[in-house]
Amino acid sequence: FIWDAMGVRQTRNNNGEPNNVLAMSFYPNEAEPLWSTYSTQAIAHTINIYGRMAFPYPYPSAQSVNGPVGGMEYPMITFNGPRPVKDNKGNITYTDRVKYGLISVIIHEVGHIWFPMTVNSDERQWTWMDEGLNTFVQYIAEQEWSDDYPSRRGDPRDLTEYMVGENQVPIMTQSDSVLQLGNNAYGKPATALVILRETIMGRENFDRAFREYSMRWRFKRPTPADFFRTMEESSGVDLDWFWRGWFYSTDHVDIALTAVREGTIDTQNPSIEANRRIAERDARPVEHGVARVADIDKIIELHPELKDYYDSVDPLADTQSEREAAARALAALTQDERAVLARSEKIYVISLENKGGLVMPVILKFTFADNSSQIVEIPAEIWRQNAKNVNWSFMTLKTLTSVELDPRQETADADRNNNYFPPRIEPSRLQIFKEKGPRNQMRDNNLTVAPNTTQTSSAKEK
Ligand SMILES: [Zn+2]
Repeated sequence: FIWDAMGVRQTRNNNGEPNNVLAMSFYPNEAEPLWSTYSTQAIAHTINIYGRMAFPYPYPSAQSVNGPVGGMEYPMITFNGPRPVKDNKGNITYTDRVKYGLISVIIHEVGHIWFPMTVNSDERQWTWMDEGLNTFVQYIAEQEWSDDYPSRRGDPRDLTEYMVGENQVPIMTQSDSVLQLGNNAYGKPATALVILRETIMGRENFDRAFREYSMRWRFKRPTPADFFRTMEESSGVDLDWFWRGWFYSTDHVDIALTAVREGTIDTQNPSIEANRRIAERDARPVEHGVARVADIDKIIELHPELKDYYDSVDPLADTQSEREAAARALAALTQDERAVLARSEKIYVISLENKGGLVMPVILKFTFADNSSQIVEIPAEIWRQNAKNVNWSFMTLKTLTSVELDPRQETADADRNNNYFPPRIEPSRLQIFKEKGPRNQMRDNNLTVAPNTTQTSSAKEK
């Protein structure tokens, strides 16, 4: 076994006193060059990120040992499996999946020393309390390792297929009865917390509350209610609706944009309003059968003596008394009230339907005729009085041309075909042939690495 170690400097609680953790890795030559490159660095990164999100690492050392299991956690020591492969010519290669799998499993198993070994929830009762919270912080650590880090869990888009599926139980199910443990206890709670942090509470509120929970329950035994309560108490945000939907139900997110209507403010000026009504009427096509008799001679043309006042006045035209009444009303208005009538904004009414069951914030991207766009974030409280259908309106001087719901794809909305107005077909690619196993780009490009370096060179001929 090779022994690799480094000191990780961290600041101990509150008093700012520095302290060092010894990060150590143990692995055989067969694990090279992956392990001496990544293992100890992954431990150090975990100590930094979990230290920031929860509390400083509470023990003197943290270890990662290469062994036959995929990944397993113990206090201060973890066992992690991924290794490179060697072909019969002696070429050493590894897939991207093995590389990121190694970094991720080390972050995950070392992360367990916080959850549940220090924040000591009961994993036999509530697996999500350690696996879910740990997978959530793991996702943050992964995304701070490199751009486009291929995290397995955490991105809301990756969870939608599971959430619309039939074979599932709520997160708040005692662990022995959980179906699809990986999605139920790891993926869904981790994604729920990503959404809670990024879309619902905001990072500042969320991070303070999450740290408060972690600190408050260090070396103690929290139950789910302790987590729910601390997140609400520390942030002052009522999250009952969120826990109820995401943790106590199997509903999914699917909000539909069902209609967009445009209106303008009534000017209270009878002549202007009459002309607008007349123009609207004249813009409508003449009924088909009526259009066909448009050119024949009508009775009143053959007998002009039958025409009276009503053959000459437009039934929608304004009248003398309406104009006088409006003038009196206008004279009685204050200057501010008159200014409102003079506004030329359009009013858009957006109709939304909650098809999936989970209430969520509504994020709308408006695109206008001048090609400018604007994103509006409406809190989930919009659903408070009607969790099924709501209308939301806004005023603008611009002309709206299209609306997109959840443009950053951050809410785990499962059906994006109903997220556009006017409707748009969401592209998808039908896969006719099954994918062959994971690619080994290193091997497939005839490259190899050596035990002492991740630098690639040409492979020996096969
Ligand atoms: Zn785990």
